Amino acid sequence: EAKRGGAGEFRFFASHMELKAQEIISLDQLLEKALENRWFVFFYQPYFRAEDLRLAGLEALVRIKVDGKIYNPSEFIDYLEKSRFLPKFEEWMFEEIEEKARRFRVPISVNVSGRSFSRRGFVERFLNKFSGEDLSLEITERVFIEDVGYASDVIKRLRGRGIRVFIDDFGTGYCALSYLRELAVDVIKVDRSFIQGVVEKKRDRDLVEVIVLLARRLGIESLAEGVETEEQLDIVKKLGFNYVQGFLLEKPLPEEELLSKYPEILSKDSQKT
Ligand code: C2E
Ligand code: MG
Ligand code: MG
Ligand code: MG
Repeated sequence: EAKRGGAGEFRFFASHMELKAQEIISLDQLLEKALENRWFVFFYQPYFRAEDLRLAGLEALVRIKVDGKIYNPSEFIDYLEKSRFLPKFEEWMFEEIEEKARRFRVPISVNVSGRSFSRRGFVERFLNKFSGEDLSLEITERVFIEDVGYASDVIKRLRGRGIRVFIDDFGTGYCALSYLRELAVDVIKVDRSFIQGVVEKKRDRDLVEVIVLLARRLGIESLAEGVETEEQLDIVKKLGFNYVQGFLLEKPLPEEELLSKYPEILSKDSQKT
C-alpha cells in the first residue's frame, strides 16, 4: 500500500493505514488532521530532586495520538517546525499549557523550538498570558547562535515575569561558555549523551563534574537527563546535580497515568471538581 507513495509521502505511515480507508497519509496530511481533530496530546515526564528523589516538576512532551497509535516527536517535529502548521500548533500548545498549569500544582516545562523562540510575538504571548504560574521554557543553545542579543533580552523579560528558562540538551550545541557569560538562565539540562558516559568514561565524568560546578558557581541549577541505570544515578548524585530525569526514574506518561501515580500533582481546585 505504502509503496505507491511518491515524494512527500512517508512510508512509515504504512502501519497507520487501517485509519482511514486505505488512503496513504503523508506527514503533511497527518499534521493537518492532527490539528483539525485535536490529536495532539502532551505526555508528562517528571524530574526529581537528586538529593531525595522527590518529584520536582514535569516536562511536557508532545505526541500525536490517533486510533490507539502514538507518534513521537522524532517522527514529526522537524517537519512541523518548518511547516505552515507551526502557528496553529503553537496555538494548541498555549491553550493546553495554560490549562495544565492551572490544573497541576507542580512546575511544568515546555519545549520551545528555536523557530518559535525567535519569532517576534511568540515570547510576548508567554509574557502576556502567564504570570505566577509555575512555568519553564526549555530552549536549546541553538537559539543563541542566531541572535545572542535578542535571546538575552527575551530571557531577561521571561524571568522578570517569573517564567523560568532551562537550557535543553546542554553540551551538544556550539560553545556554551560564551553564552553562559551573557545569559542568566535557571537550569541547564546536561544532555543524555554525557550522562551515558559517566559510568565508564572518566573523561565524560570529569567533564560533567566541571559543568555542574561551573553552573553552580554562576547560580544556575543543573539537571541530568536520560538517567537509565542505578550506577548512573549514583554518580550523578555524587557529581552534585540538583535534579535527575530519565527512564530509570520515570518515563513520559499520559496525563491519566501520571495523575493516578502521582495524585499529589493535582491542584486543590481541580480535585474538587
Ligand atoms: P528533549 O526535550 O531533550 O526531551 C527528552 C527526550 O528524551 C524525550 O523524547 C524523552 O522521552 C526522552 N527520554 C527521557 N528520558 C530518557 C531516558 O532515560 N533514556 C532515553 N533513551 N530517552 C529518554 P521525546 O518525547 O520523543 O522528545 C524528543 C524531542 O522532541 C525532545 O527532546 C524535544 O526536543 C522535542 N519535543 C518534544 N515535545 C516538544 C514540544 O512540545 N515542542 C517542541 N518544539 N519540541 C518538542
Ligand atoms: Mg526538553
Ligand atoms: Mg532534553
Ligand atoms: Mg534531548
